Amino acid sequence: MAILKEYPAEGVEVGTRIQEEGLAYSQAEIQKPLVSELWATRSMSNKIRAKKIANRAGLPLIWVDKIPGINGERGLEKLRAERSVLLLRDRISPFIEQFQHPIGRCAKFYKLTAYNNCNFWCEYCYLYLTFRTQPVSTHFINYEKMYDEIEKFDKSSIPKSLRVLNLGELGDPLAVDYITGFAKQIIAFMPEHAPRTRLLFLTKSDCVDDILALEHGGQSIISFSVNTEKVFQQLEHRTASPESRLAAAARVQKAGYEVRLRIDPVIFYSTWEKDYISLVDKIFQFVQPTRITIGEYRPSNGLANHISSRFPDSPLLRINKSLVREGGKLRYPKGQRIKMFRTIIEAIRKCGADVDIALCKEQPQIWKALGLNIKGLFCNCLG
Ligand code: SF4
Repeated sequence: MAILKEYPAEGVEVGTRIQEEGLAYSQAEIQKPLVSELWATRSMSNKIRAKKIANRAGLPLIWVDKIPGINGERGLEKLRAERSVLLLRDRISPFIEQFQHPIGRCAKFYKLTAYNNCNFWCEYCYLYLTFRTQPVSTHFINYEKMYDEIEKFDKSSIPKSLRVLNLGELGDPLAVDYITGFAKQIIAFMPEHAPRTRLLFLTKSDCVDDILALEHGGQSIISFSVNTEKVFQQLEHRTASPESRLAAAARVQKAGYEVRLRIDPVIFYSTWEKDYISLVDKIFQFVQPTRITIGEYRPSNGLANHISSRFPDSPLLRINKSLVREGGKLRYPKGQRIKMFRTIIEAIRKCGADVDIALCKEQPQIWKALGLNIKGLFCNCLG
């Protein structure tokens, strides 16, 4: 199926355009269960919890002596070896850590790492690079250590705007929640034990059934990352469709959760303008988010090798050639990304919605060029 067509981008040479591309990953593969093997480290502290998760998954537990490292596979075999497995183990490092952007283009928000890596197969996923030496998707199940850290965090004097724990920085916190049942436990924990702290789930899943009836105390924000149908079809393998995510957003909003959205990564291709405007229209047919944060495709310099070893025909490899180096990343040239952001912002404004609009990890001059207020920083990850 041909989806992303070539397009003469501003300031981009003809030879570096996006070409027509066939889907490398067949629908049959995409239909398979996200997790086909469940592993657990023998040294973990709570084997009963691991067995409960295995029962819920309907999978046998495979015990391993050490954390699996790099495998020698490529393409689909590599993805299956890394992301069709879920490893359960204890987290030794702190669950809560402060995010430090290498060149200060982001607030120092706090992340809570319950998952390393993800079982979805997005072609642009930066976690292929982040977890290059330990690529197997992992869930940390020594929750008692995590709860202890959350209670301490809640009692600390951290300012209110930073009193949000981001669960979506190093994995999708709802992708395999139907197996782990983790979200309902941590959401229900908060009102009694950490009433001054909020949780932020960032997801491309529609797996929300378990959290709808919870007493969440308004302390959990559910943020859905959405994109055009073409980007989903071509690049976001095994995730819920954008429409399913928006339907899930409508359900959690009805259940009283704050809903935020991310349109990220925005990708430039032949029908981008029409498609992103339609996406914005569709958003407001389903949900009234409090905040929409926009970001463009911006791979780290070292990501391309990790994409090509899994998706050798990925259109991203050609897109990368049309990007410029900026602050340790490859990005669309400034004029081009201002044009893309402006189109989306105008579409949001036309919907007349009372919604905050922010950019992710962008320079102040881009915020200013788009007439956005950079002073009270209020992007996706902050309170
Ligand atoms: S949902 Fe996020 S974390 Fe998961 S594969 Fe896609 S980009 Fe990576």
